[in-house]
Amino acid sequence: MKIKTKLNLGIGLLFLLIIILTVIGIININALKNDSENILTANQNTLVYTREMLSALDDTSRNSLQIFESNLKKQEKNITEIGENEITLKLRMNFESLKVNHAENEASVEIRKNIFQIMKMNMEAIQRKSEIAKATADSAVLWIAISGSLCFLISLTLLINLPSTIANPIRELTESIKQIAAKNYSKRVKISGPKEFIQLAMSFNTMAKKLEEYNNSNLAKLMIEKKRIETLINKMNDPVIGLDENLKIIFANEEAIKISGLKNDTLIGELAHELAHENDLIRNLILDIKTHQVDNNESKKTIKIFASNKESYFEKETLHISIIPTGEETQQIIGYVIFLRNITRFKELDFAKTNFIATISHEFKTPISSIKMSIQLLENPQIGALNSEQNNLINSIKEDTNRLLKFTGELLNMTQAETGNIQLSIVPSDPREILSYAIDATRKQAEQKQIQLVIHCEENIPNMLADAEKTAWVLTNLIANAIRYSYDNASVQIKISQKNKSVDIAVIDTGQGIQAEYKDKIFDRYFRVPGTQKEGTGLGLAISKEFIEAQNGTIHVESEYGKGSTFTITLNQA
Ligand code: ADP
Repeated sequence: MKIKTKLNLGIGLLFLLIIILTVIGIININALKNDSENILTANQNTLVYTREMLSALDDTSRNSLQIFESNLKKQEKNITEIGENEITLKLRMNFESLKVNHAENEASVEIRKNIFQIMKMNMEAIQRKSEIAKATADSAVLWIAISGSLCFLISLTLLINLPSTIANPIRELTESIKQIAAKNYSKRVKISGPKEFIQLAMSFNTMAKKLEEYNNSNLAKLMIEKKRIETLINKMNDPVIGLDENLKIIFANEEAIKISGLKNDTLIGELAHELAHENDLIRNLILDIKTHQVDNNESKKTIKIFASNKESYFEKETLHISIIPTGEETQQIIGYVIFLRNITRFKELDFAKTNFIATISHEFKTPISSIKMSIQLLENPQIGALNSEQNNLINSIKEDTNRLLKFTGELLNMTQAETGNIQLSIVPSDPREILSYAIDATRKQAEQKQIQLVIHCEENIPNMLADAEKTAWVLTNLIANAIRYSYDNASVQIKISQKNKSVDIAVIDTGQGIQAEYKDKIFDRYFRVPGTQKEGTGLGLAISKEFIEAQNGTIHVESEYGKGSTFTITLNQA
């Protein structure tokens, strides 16, 4: 049935009930009115007339007969009870005989008797009729009570049923809409109420079905995409591990599982920081995420892992995955991906190269030193005087030998740094002594270009924790560079100062300076600023960095292109 029809019927029924109640009330009140009117007009009036007649009878005044006559006439017209007419006729006769003979006592007695009979008859009638009226009132009360109760019951049924006929389907529909909103697309509504709701439910079910189909088709597509990406990651030769924002491992490819030494189900779905208690590799991998060291999106670090029965080297790269959620403005980290690039082959090649260079430079050192000694012997006049041409040749051989010796020395130092075999003896050392060694080593070079070496040293400079030989090597290299890259007749300042429990030694020149884009690169091995004319290997600063960092110090450069550079080493105070 339609909801409109239902409402119409319900409200119509209520109207009908009200009308029925009103009609029953009116009928009963009318019946009561009739009963009371009946008593009033029929009997009550007779009593009044008879009382008037009695008092006229007792009255001796002249018009008493007239009063009697008129009341008798009224009574004659108000005959209502059975037998009342005969007694009234008798009363008329007796009155007529009293009118003829005033003194007739018998007639007067008869009249009084008649009047009392009429009065008694009417009083009995009043008694009887009031009983009828009472019964009418009782039946009115009964009827009104029955019909009232019936109306109440019907209204109550309507009150209970009508709102729920409308509210129940709406509630069920609302519940289903909530389920759909919560992505439970399999939800369907079964409404057996009014026609409109059945139609609404059918439309809703069609919508839910279409949504389910759409969702399933999307899900299938997503599953295929997921499988594709999973296969791709699994087939990668390098280990890849994905973590969510809470560091729960959400995926790890076969290579990653292999090197972790764990099983698939003990790795995936687990919290990395919990696994890190027992697994060194996982601890190492999440270290920079946990310490928030990676502020930018990526970082690269080489780590050594014992995998496939040998030491393997991996370059670690951590990507921070962040998104801006729909409707928000701030970025939110949703996870991390750790890539481990296997660089073992390159490392092995690098070791081979380092070993080769180390062997060659070591083997070169002895013959070069003996050439140097032979030259010194040749220069000795006791062995024999040399003419000027021979002297020139000897000088040029000496220069080349020195250069070769410096080069092989640098290569050896480099191989030491690369293999981590730097032999250090870090002891409290006087920075001035180290500096004077470096000045001595570079004095000749400075003189050749008429460059002044100016030393500024703060008073009470403390000793520093340093390996004197290696630090002197670094300073010699810095001062030699400062001289090399300065113009003739310039000056090179060397400043020793103390700062926050450390000692700074700065080498300041006013030479050509370094372009900003090369400032970070000059500490890389074999790097030389493009266009540099002066001879060199590009190893000096790389070795210096290794030497200073091995002593827990730092080296950095400040430079303005065209104005000069300042190289500063900082070492811990003793
Ligand atoms: P080398 O001097 O043997 O080339 P280094 O490692 O000592 O190697 O220096 C690397 C590069 O840095 C040099 O080639 C040079 O271009 C630049 N450089 C180093 N020191 C200075 C300096 N004081 N002034 C300008 N450029 C410099």
